[in-house]
Amino acid sequence: MTYKAARDRLAENGTSDLSDNLAYGEISPRTIWHLGQKAIASGAQGLEPFLRQIAWRDFAHHLMYHTPHMLQENWREGWDNFPWNEDTESSAVMAWKMGTTGIDFVDAAMRELWVTGKMHNRARMVVASYLTKHMMVHWRVGEQWFADQLIDYDPANNAMGWQWVAGSGPDAAPYFRVFNPDTQLEKFDPKRAYFSRWVAEGQVEPPQTALDFFDAIPKQAQLSSQDTRPKPIVRLKEGRERALAAYSAK
Ligand SMILES: Cc1cc2nc3c(=O)[nH]c(=O)nc-3n(C[C@H](O)[C@H](O)[C@H](O)COP(=O)(O)OP(=O)(O)OC[C@H]3O[C@@H](n4cnc5c(N)ncnc54)[C@H](O)[C@@H]3O)c2cc1C
Repeated sequence: MTYKAARDRLAENGTSDLSDNLAYGEISPRTIWHLGQKAIASGAQGLEPFLRQIAWRDFAHHLMYHTPHMLQENWREGWDNFPWNEDTESSAVMAWKMGTTGIDFVDAAMRELWVTGKMHNRARMVVASYLTKHMMVHWRVGEQWFADQLIDYDPANNAMGWQWVAGSGPDAAPYFRVFNPDTQLEKFDPKRAYFSRWVAEGQVEPPQTALDFFDAIPKQAQLSSQDTRPKPIVRLKEGRERALAAYSAK
């Protein structure tokens, strides 16, 4: 399967997994780019979508250099008065961090982050959308959590990713594009293999990956694989409507 076909499938190892090597400088984007060009010249097919991601990384680093305020502030000032919540300790934000929002896709992804220190790109987009839109929490709160947790943390890619999802960045997804985590999961994890890999509750014999989550989190969280799944902290329809109403009043 090509990179283009596999990159969005949550349960596959369909991407290069090079982000931490790039973040630590163990391989340079130039090396990857030139190896890619050489391979294309020798007839390799389907490499362009992958090389495009390397170009996105380059774009993020240029943005950070020329507009360093993007690391902390909205890239577009027009967002400065948007009524985002910035309480990092609220019970809703804690549920988001702990993977107990009651939204299957979000919880699976946040647990993947606890266990591996990484998260699938599509999952990053969906958890960021749920936080900034359904929960109406400032993208900075999520950006900082990712900075603490990701082993591939890259200030430029992270800030650009968060601001792209939130709508406040350059070339951003429009705010009214609110990902629906349920339909995203149906589309990109049709057999629920990704969900089952990371969420133990409700499974008779959960896999080790899902159980590892309970060893990764602080004991004070008092979570157990025997718990029942929580109800959604923000229902998808209500959260979407509230976010869109706030956006049209902006
Ligand atoms: C909210 C959010 C936060 C993110 N935070 C980070 C981060 O802290 N560090 C990080 O490296 N990436 C981040 N990304 C981008 C992307 O999710 C990861 O680079 C990717 O998941 C890493 O997997 P891979 O190496 O297998 O990627 P591949 O798909 O194999 O791509 C190859 C390389 O291209 C670059 N790349 C891929 N997608 C993007 C993108 N959307 N933007 C910029 N560069 C990209 C990465 O360096 C990646 O290693 C973020 C994306 C979002 C939506």
